[in-house]
Amino acid sequence: MIKLRTVLGDISPGDAGVTLTHEHILYANPGAEFDRRAAFDFNTVADEVTTTMQKGMKDHGIRTMVDMTACELGRHPDLIAEVARRSGMNIIAITGFFPERLGIPYHWRVQGIDYVRDFFISDITQGMAFGFASTDIKAGAIKIATGSGDGHGGPAPDGPNGTHMTRTEEHLVRAAGRAQAALGCCVNTHTDPQDYSVRNPGIEQLDVLESEGADPAKVIIGHALVNLDMKQLLELCERGTNLQIDHIGIPWQNPSAESLDEAMAVAVCELVEAGYLDQLVFTYDRFFHHCRGPVTEEEPEMLNEGVDLSYMFDSFLPRLAKKGFTEAEVKKVLVDNPARILAF
Ligand SMILES: [Zn+2]
Repeated sequence: MIKLRTVLGDISPGDAGVTLTHEHILYANPGAEFDRRAAFDFNTVADEVTTTMQKGMKDHGIRTMVDMTACELGRHPDLIAEVARRSGMNIIAITGFFPERLGIPYHWRVQGIDYVRDFFISDITQGMAFGFASTDIKAGAIKIATGSGDGHGGPAPDGPNGTHMTRTEEHLVRAAGRAQAALGCCVNTHTDPQDYSVRNPGIEQLDVLESEGADPAKVIIGHALVNLDMKQLLELCERGTNLQIDHIGIPWQNPSAESLDEAMAVAVCELVEAGYLDQLVFTYDRFFHHCRGPVTEEEPEMLNEGVDLSYMFDSFLPRLAKKGFTEAEVKKVLVDNPARILAF
């Protein structure tokens, strides 16, 4: 059976509706779980997130979201499932990790590739663990992440393999490739925008994934448009993979949301012109609840909390419409493409 695997069970691709492919219900940098000031009340957060989601569902018909929170960033199966129950949103959780400079706890750095492959597979087929307790709440996709990591420090140094990947990152990407080949699920990726200034990190990820038997048509390359280079975007599309237009309304590594949106909108139209409409998805990368103590100075991460769920519909889609992007094309990108890519 072809299905999308949400935290509350499988759904038919035809029921996914408007889908955002990269969001975070809860976001916590590794270690925040030991900080008293980052503690939160489960019910309060579940209620707050539910209220925000229900508004997006009512105002804009959003029906499905992928929670891209990596295991070590506070991925919380019970909270994700509770929000899905209260809000009615279809939520797909992921299995996988952040780049090594930001995450990948030591336990996972020392495992063999097949051990990690089996972990990805069991998260999707049996259920995820949290705080040394197993659950029967299943993930529905795999996340991989490679590269620079700290956002403004320039590109990652070359790894031992001659790419932007560390040795551990490459192992996890290989494991993801093997799990994708076994299950047919989606692999959604984090690339670092800084790395595109040296080489194409999306291509590096595809090279490794495909060498392990993964299907590029089931891969979504994330963050490729933040420091966009049209030649690199076309190179990715030619490989048959999918591009995620994310950080809509979030000026990550850009002077303003306005300038990033405009650049991405122009690029989207060029990609459609080149025949790649079927390989595009749109999303924010929003943090619905960020677990951290009080902030003493502005952090770039705060931008991910500020964007409103209406922004894409009230600002970005009208911007695209002015450039000739049609309603039918919007439906492709927000409904048809994610349903096809996330199904397995
Ligand atoms: Zn993210």
